[in-house]
Amino acid sequence: MRRTPALIVGGGPAGAAAAIALAGRGGSPLLLERSTGAHDVVCGGFMGWDALAALERLGIDVEALGAQRIDNLLLVAGERSALLALPRAAAGLSRQKLDAALLACAEDRGARVERGVTVRSIDAATRTALLADGREIAADALFLATGKYELRGAQRSASPGDDPPVGLRMRLEATPRLSRALQNRVELFLFDRGYAGMLLQEDGTVNFCLTAARSRLAAAGGSAERLVVELAAECPTLADRLGDMVGAGSWSSIARVPYGWRAETTTDGIFRLGDQVAVIASVVGDGIAIALESARMASEHYFERGAAAAAGYQRSFARHVDWPVRIAGWLRATVETPRGARVLMPVVDLLPALARSVIRATRVGGY
Ligand SMILES: Cc1cc2nc3c(=O)[nH]c(=O)nc-3n(C[C@H](O)[C@H](O)[C@H](O)COP(=O)(O)OP(=O)(O)OC[C@H]3O[C@@H](n4cnc5c(N)ncnc54)[C@H](O)[C@@H]3O)c2cc1C
Repeated sequence: MRRTPALIVGGGPAGAAAAIALAGRGGSPLLLERSTGAHDVVCGGFMGWDALAALERLGIDVEALGAQRIDNLLLVAGERSALLALPRAAAGLSRQKLDAALLACAEDRGARVERGVTVRSIDAATRTALLADGREIAADALFLATGKYELRGAQRSASPGDDPPVGLRMRLEATPRLSRALQNRVELFLFDRGYAGMLLQEDGTVNFCLTAARSRLAAAGGSAERLVVELAAECPTLADRLGDMVGAGSWSSIARVPYGWRAETTTDGIFRLGDQVAVIASVVGDGIAIALESARMASEHYFERGAAAAAGYQRSFARHVDWPVRIAGWLRATVETPRGARVLMPVVDLLPALARSVIRATRVGGY
């Protein structure tokens, strides 16, 4: 059986950042990623200043990747809207571009990256990964970074609740008018049991992403297109934006997102990263920062005490993300009800400093 000191399963931001950190200190990690090439995932593509700082520390130049600068947030609920200057500059970048850059950086630093390799299950007790092609790889330390996807043998104990959210995402072409409207801003459209977000990506296309409770999607006959038509009928600004999008992309989706979940314990030698350690409500756009921060903390623990450091890392990280995840959960519960959104809009309008403080409190990797 093949053996490796550090095995990373999953090559999203968490897994790739761990590979960069481990390889940079001579850890010779092996990373397995099931996709065969650059691909988009269900994600809004918003990167806060904490994610940007973490990427800079890893040596990723997001400006060179074409990231679109974002200084403002437009919040829209029904016919009401409020424009808020963000506490610090953020950016919009497609995950296809970001993930590819992170994996390329990991390889440059000396990590072995094997693509098109799916891990079917793991044996947590022996830290052995069983691959889809029947091969087995044993590791001293296993870094679980499969993100939104459960891995047999190491499933999260997460419950997405009685009316679980569904995440949907599409890439669309923008008319010049829409491109101008979206310059330097992210727009969030709040609706009953969900929200939709849009921003410009590096190539000028629009990332249109939303989450809706299963019941809300079911009320639209289970059709994402019908749901969007209903949302546009409730919100003139959204109708205006959608009218300026060209072409019909295809939806990517993810079901049963367990917002608010965090891992507090682990098995010896198993480090959970990214969405495998904590799932922050996506409306605050800090999941990428969590992924990068978990990779940084896990690799530091690993270099101090080896595989035995996993439990200590897991406890420290659970404490580290506790408040941001709680506050994000509270915000989500507020904005996804018509009454909560009605109360929130004038607060954002009249007390922008307070709104910025709440946003800062949701950042995991620094204010
Ligand atoms: C609707 C929605 C919108 C969001 N918007 C934002 C946003 O705007 N900004 C933000 O910061 N966060 C956002 N998030 C959260 C963000 O997408 C995640 O927190 C982030 O992707 C977590 O990174 P990760 O590396 O842990 O997992 P992922 O990005 O999910 O990556 C996991 C990787 O593992 C691979 N993989 C999975 N299973 C296996 C296997 N068995 N074998 C091998 N490889 C495997 C996958 O192919 C994938 O490449 C959003 C989430 C949702 C649901």
